[in-house]
Amino acid sequence: APFALETVTIDGAEYRSFAKAPGNMGDYFRFMLNHADKEFAVYRDERLTFGESYAQASALARSLIDDYGVQPGDRVAILSRNNPQWMLGFIATLSIGAVAVPMNAWWTTEELDYGLKDCGAKVVIADRQRLERLVPLQAELQLALIAVDDCSGLDLSFRNFRDLVGAHQGAEMPVVDVAPDDYATIMYTSGSTGHPKGALSSHRGMLSALYSWMLLGTSDKQAAGKKEPAKFPPSGLLTIPLFHCTGSHTAFLLSLIVGRKLVIMHKWDVQEALRIIEEERITWFTGVPTMSAELQAAAAESDRDLSSLAEIYGGGAARPPAQVEKLAKTFKHSSAGIGYGLTETNALGTINTGAVYRARPGSAGRVVPAVTDIAILDENDQPLPAGERGEVCIHSPANCLGYWNKPEATAEAFRDGWFHTGDVGYMDEDGFLFIVDRIKEIIIRGGENISCIEVEAGIYQHPAILEAAVYGVPDERLGEAVAASVVLREGETLTTEGLQEFLREHIAGFKIPAHVRFHDEALPRIATGKIFKRQLKAELSETLAAA
Ligand code: AMP
Repeated sequence: APFALETVTIDGAEYRSFAKAPGNMGDYFRFMLNHADKEFAVYRDERLTFGESYAQASALARSLIDDYGVQPGDRVAILSRNNPQWMLGFIATLSIGAVAVPMNAWWTTEELDYGLKDCGAKVVIADRQRLERLVPLQAELQLALIAVDDCSGLDLSFRNFRDLVGAHQGAEMPVVDVAPDDYATIMYTSGSTGHPKGALSSHRGMLSALYSWMLLGTSDKQAAGKKEPAKFPPSGLLTIPLFHCTGSHTAFLLSLIVGRKLVIMHKWDVQEALRIIEEERITWFTGVPTMSAELQAAAAESDRDLSSLAEIYGGGAARPPAQVEKLAKTFKHSSAGIGYGLTETNALGTINTGAVYRARPGSAGRVVPAVTDIAILDENDQPLPAGERGEVCIHSPANCLGYWNKPEATAEAFRDGWFHTGDVGYMDEDGFLFIVDRIKEIIIRGGENISCIEVEAGIYQHPAILEAAVYGVPDERLGEAVAASVVLREGETLTTEGLQEFLREHIAGFKIPAHVRFHDEALPRIATGKIFKRQLKAELSETLAAA
């Protein structure tokens, strides 16, 4: 069997992992050649086959080695909105044993400065909007820049992606020795503490997640007795940013092995999504619940032929149970599903699909079988029985190795082989996971994680602020919205708009509080001296609901 299981030891903890399967991502990318003539990436007027994509990635890989001296272990940052070059840059980087570091496309100059210094990027592959933000940093950071789109006129020294690929046209993918436990990616994620942390994954980690989903896909179909070929060839709509695990792993990387075409949206636009589904005969959709809710509402009003759509997946945040029923009613011939996972687990965790999902729409599903275990642990790391709430913890070879440059945060979150998610949940008698709360101080707005402390730090930079607390409040469209409670220094004045404008310089737009509550007195505190955010959240949520 090509995917037999073996026992591997990572940092002293034993895991079940896949044996005999290709052991590094470079081998995995060669699956693209199995469907070389099929279409892979569609973006605006560009259409690339799997074969052409692999050839371009090979040429870029050659260039990274020959023109930039990239060695195994060097970091290559990818700063771009979704486009084919994002994916080709990723393939090229991992194939030569370098570490790909995707960064959030909404990050400001300040945030990029932090990320690029933190990972110590040697080369940056970027699009025009991101390169513009690097102009103030270039003198200090001295980055080697590769521009993926037209960047003429920018006051920067860079080379063009297409020129580099052209110069190495026909080059074979370089042969580099990469071991399963070598570093593959650093993906930034927001946790309870200030700056985003870089979750460091090995090749084995990514492959464990990819092979698990692949086996699950096959067994699901067998279980459902689906033998007849699908009506339309597999074709996905890429709506989630590739710099998130869900985008890069379940959308992009899984497509390489199953031969699925990906139609890339420049930015989310529901009417455009409906047009593409009809014209490109999209069979597979994934997006944060905010997107599938908009898709369902728009589809219910649309007379487009959306019958190709067979699967509507989602993740990144909980999907309200009512939406599951609406999806089933609007998309009668498709199956909806939700996954639960984190950047730190390479997005692998649980999954809930089909009829089972309709029966338990509030659940994140059951553990993806083969290599992953999930336990609900109490404060002393002891397992809790079914039905009891505790911290959701995940043991899996797909878990990241830790946080880049952050040994303390790593030691805290990765203990005895278990990753502590910071999510609170329980498991029912049948092994279905329910996420009910969060220990970590983050807000999940439309699937984007936001660290409360990072936003607070931004607010505290404003000279008028005496005290600030950031928390999430319910939002019908986005799941949660960012809210802040602030107290001003004596004699100071400030408006919500004034604060928002100020923050735009420091933090990405999606992190800026939509709601700001100005308090005349000191913020309420609990006995330990910590601000009583639960109370603030409850009060503001009530005010907003009444409005
Ligand atoms: P990220 O690392 O950006 O993928 O975010 C992971 C976090 O998103 C988790 O720790 C959860 O808090 C949340 N999350 C992801 N999927 C789900 C889900 N299906 N249900 C509830 N929360 C989820």
